[in-house]
Amino acid sequence: MIKQGGSDMRFFNRLLSFMKGRYGIDETFYLLFGISCAFAIANLFLRLWQLQIVIYIISAIAILRFFSRNYTARSRENKIIAEAFSGLRNRFRTYKTRKADKMHIYKKCPNCKAVLRLPRRKGKHTTVCPNCHSEFSVRVFKQ
Ligand SMILES: [Zn+2]
Repeated sequence: MIKQGGSDMRFFNRLLSFMKGRYGIDETFYLLFGISCAFAIANLFLRLWQLQIVIYIISAIAILRFFSRNYTARSRENKIIAEAFSGLRNRFRTYKTRKADKMHIYKKCPNCKAVLRLPRRKGKHTTVCPNCHSEFSVRVFKQ
C-alpha cells in the first residue's frame, strides 16, 4: 500500500515538474477549443476529411500552446486575439445602436470620414459636415 502511494507521489511530482513553467490555459485556448468542438460537431453531419484535418490542426495548436514554455509569445498572441474580439464586439454594439435609432440615419462624410448623425427625413438633402465643413448630398429612402 505504502509502495503504491510512493510511486503515485513520484508520478505526481514528475507531472508537476513537467508542467512547471508551461503556459497553460488562456482565452485563446478556450477559443481554439470551442472552434474545434463546433467543427467536430458539424463534421458529424458533413463527414469531410478536409475539415477533420483542420480540426486536428486547431487542436494541435491549442495543445502546443498549452505546453509551451514561451510565456511572452503566447501572451502576445492572446492579447492580439482579445483585442480583435473587443473590436468586433464594439463594432457590433455600434451597429445595434444605430439600427435601433429610427429617428436618425448615420452617414460617413466622404471628405473626412467622420460619421454624422442626421435626422431621418425621406428624400434628397444637402448636408454640411460640422467637422470639415464640406458639403455633400444624402438620400434617405425610408422614413
Ligand atoms: Zn467631413
